Amino acid sequence: MNFYKSRRIKQLPPYLFVELDRKKAEAVSRGVDVIDLGIGDPDLPTPDFIVKSMAEAVQRPEYHRYPSSAGMASFRKAAARWCKKRFGLDLDADTQVTALVGSKEAIAHFPLAFVDPGDTVLVPTPGYPVYHIGTLFCGGNTHYLPLLRENDFLPDIDSIPEDVLQGARILWLNYPNNPTAALATKDFFAKVVDFAREHEIIICHDAAYSEMTFDGYRAPSFLETPGAMDVGIEFHSLSKTYNMTGWRIGFAVGHPELVGALKKVKSNVDSGQFEAVQDAAVTALDSDQSCVEEMRRIYTERRDTLVSGLRDLGLDAPYPKATFYVWTPVPDGYGSQEFSNFLLEKAGIVCTPGNGFGEPGEGFVRMALTVPADRLKLAIDRMKAVL
Ligand SMILES: *Cc1c(COP(=O)(O)O)cnc(C)c1O
Repeated sequence: MNFYKSRRIKQLPPYLFVELDRKKAEAVSRGVDVIDLGIGDPDLPTPDFIVKSMAEAVQRPEYHRYPSSAGMASFRKAAARWCKKRFGLDLDADTQVTALVGSKEAIAHFPLAFVDPGDTVLVPTPGYPVYHIGTLFCGGNTHYLPLLRENDFLPDIDSIPEDVLQGARILWLNYPNNPTAALATKDFFAKVVDFAREHEIIICHDAAYSEMTFDGYRAPSFLETPGAMDVGIEFHSLSKTYNMTGWRIGFAVGHPELVGALKKVKSNVDSGQFEAVQDAAVTALDSDQSCVEEMRRIYTERRDTLVSGLRDLGLDAPYPKATFYVWTPVPDGYGSQEFSNFLLEKAGIVCTPGNGFGEPGEGFVRMALTVPADRLKLAIDRMKAVL
C-alpha cells in the first residue's frame, strides 16, 4: 500500500545530526579514533546523589501509577523554590509552574495553544531547530530573525516589518544561546518586554543553559525583567544542569494563562513524567548545587584548553561565558561545511557546521565541550598538524 504522508511531515528539514552521524559512523568504521565535538549531550554521569534518590523512589508503588500531566505538587513547589532562590521569582506552584517531559516536547507543543494555520512565529537563526518545527506542526509560518556577530547575536527586533508583526503570535529567545553561546543583557530583555506589549506577541524564553555559566557570570531569567511575567513563559530543563538528558525532565514557568494553555495541550498528549523521576528531580533542585559548581569547573577547564589551542592556531574563537559550545569562525578560504568535512577527514574531529543551524551560521562551526580536556588537547594537536 502507498502510505500518504502529511504535508507537515514532508516539509520537515532533515534532522541536523543525521548526516553528521552518518559521516562519523563511516570514519569510525574506517578505524579512525574520532573525537566527537558534534552533539550537545553531556558526557559526564548524573551526580550520584540524584541517581540514589531515583533508586529509592522507583521502589515506591504509589509512583507506579499514572502521574498527573502537570506534575506532582512536590515537584512544582521545588521548581518554584529553585526559581525564587536562583532568580528571585515569586511563582504560584499551582498556576505558574508545570512539569515537562524534557523541555524539547514543550517547545514543540506550546505553539499548538497559540498558533493557528497562517499565523507567524518569530524564530532566531542560527538556532535550536525545534522552534521552527513546532511552528510547522501548527501550520504556522516561521519568520527568521538573524543572529549576527555585529549585533552580539541578539535579534534586531526593531527591523521586523510591520506586516510580519501583524500576524506574529510568538517570539522565541534562548539565552545563554545555543549555538552561538551569546548572552542576553538586561537592557535587551527590557526592550523585548516593551516589544511584546506593543505588538501583543508572547515571549517564549528557552533557558536550557541558565546554569552552565563560567567566570562568575550568572545568567538572568527573562522573567526577572520588570513586566516580563505579563508577557512570557520560560522553559527550564534539568538536562544540561545535572547531566540528566536521558531522564527527560524540565519545567515551564510564567504567566498563568500561558502555563495553563500549555498544560491543557499536554494533558491531551502525554500523561506526565514518571513520578520517581520527578522525585529525583526534587532532590536535584533542592540540593546545595555543589554538583553544578563542579560541572562549571570541568567545562571551564575544557573551554580554556580548547579555546587557547584554537587561538594558537590563529582562529578567532572567543572564550564563551556560558553553554558548552565554542562558536568558532572558520579559517579564511573555508565554508562551514567545508571546514567541518576537512576536520573530520584530516583530523578525525567531528564538529557541527554553523549553517546547519540556519544560513546566518555560515562562516562558523560549533564545537561542543563534551569530551575530556586531554581529548580536546589531542584535537588541537591534530589540528596543528593539518592546518
Ligand atoms: C538541550 C536543549 C534543550 C532541551 O533539552 P531537554 O533535554 O529536552 O530538556 C532545549 N533548548 C536548547 C537550546 C537546547 O540546547
